[in-house]
Amino acid sequence: MSYLFPNYQRKELELVKGDKNTLTDRSGKSYLDFTSGIGVMNLGYNDSELNQALADQANLLWHTPNLYENQLQEQTAMKLANKKEYLSYFCNSGAEANEAAIKLARKATGRTKIISFTNSFHGRTYGAMSATGQASIHAGFEPLVPDFVYLPYNELEPLLAEVDQKTAAVILELIQGEGGVIPADNQWIQDVQSLCHKYGALLIIDEIQTGIGRTGTLYAYENYQIKPDIFTLAKGLGNGIPVGAMLGKSSLAQAFGPGSHGSTFGGNKLGMRVAAKVIDRINQPEFLHEVQMKSEQLFLGLEQLAEKNAVIQTVRGKGLMIGIEFSDQAVRNQVMEQLEAEGLLTLKAGQTVLRLLPPLTITHEEIAQGLKMLEKVLSNLATQTSLTELAELK
Ligand SMILES: *Cc1c(COP(=O)(O)O)cnc(C)c1O
Repeated sequence: MSYLFPNYQRKELELVKGDKNTLTDRSGKSYLDFTSGIGVMNLGYNDSELNQALADQANLLWHTPNLYENQLQEQTAMKLANKKEYLSYFCNSGAEANEAAIKLARKATGRTKIISFTNSFHGRTYGAMSATGQASIHAGFEPLVPDFVYLPYNELEPLLAEVDQKTAAVILELIQGEGGVIPADNQWIQDVQSLCHKYGALLIIDEIQTGIGRTGTLYAYENYQIKPDIFTLAKGLGNGIPVGAMLGKSSLAQAFGPGSHGSTFGGNKLGMRVAAKVIDRINQPEFLHEVQMKSEQLFLGLEQLAEKNAVIQTVRGKGLMIGIEFSDQAVRNQVMEQLEAEGLLTLKAGQTVLRLLPPLTITHEEIAQGLKMLEKVLSNLATQTSLTELAELK
């Protein structure tokens, strides 16, 4: 028996070792990783520089409370601001970062209404769950935090009707991750920002999955030429060490004064030491350019496969955050299973999407390998399907 709550649907697979972009399971089988955990291991596994940073800090000091100054937090915050006027608050997860964002938005505006979008995902704690526009995630946990409104994503009319002088914030992902790798339209985002400015509502961008180089720039919002009032980070920030962050314009400082919010572990020295290194490595023009080149290679290969395989409806995303939409769920699941058997780990998103989030350190050769495995699985599937059709005809 298991002593764990059954709240996760787990595969019968345990990964016990990782190196670069490869994982090994208990039986010794190895897999090429196109998941990065779930968008966490952006610099891959067993990275010697990160191992060293963690070990150095572990040998020096693990923890001090936020009652004292913390230069590691200062350094990490400066790197995250990336020469812009953003202040950081550190926590331990994505949901916590969004909790901080929601609290800050309400406190700073004195308003309560928060607009979010259907199929969004912002986390599982009460505030973050209330911001999440998915009924299946709310089920059984009502009443939610009041004054959250859910509108259709990428649509302007419903937003025009809803955003007003009572709106504290609009919160959104620039590419809905869990919802199915759905990118926001550029024009819509510009309109969302203008509406926020017009009514004095804050624009919160959830970059928990899209941030830290995932889409080929340090933050996805750079692709949209917008300036969020608040944005949140977690997944890739600590490369597996739990770190979350909420960044807000420095003009919001007063609303988060002493005693307003906090976390015992938030900004702890182990996490900060690693996060600072992660940002240093990823926020380099050459590194980000490579991510873009690898993205082009992967998209090109996937589009070629889509042309030859009718089961693929569309390929979408940005950088190394890619969704392959299949004709139906059963096919998607079958492809995913067979890829795992071949030695390629992938993720689901939404109902029919296969999601690829390879480490940003993935090599061109490994991308080619992954594409080959996908090609093989798809052609096996096509043979199987035509055999069944043939059998049905007889
Ligand atoms: C994963 C995710 C979260 C939640 O992060 P946790 O660390 O699991 O709390 C929130 N928003 C987005 C966009 C995510 O992808």
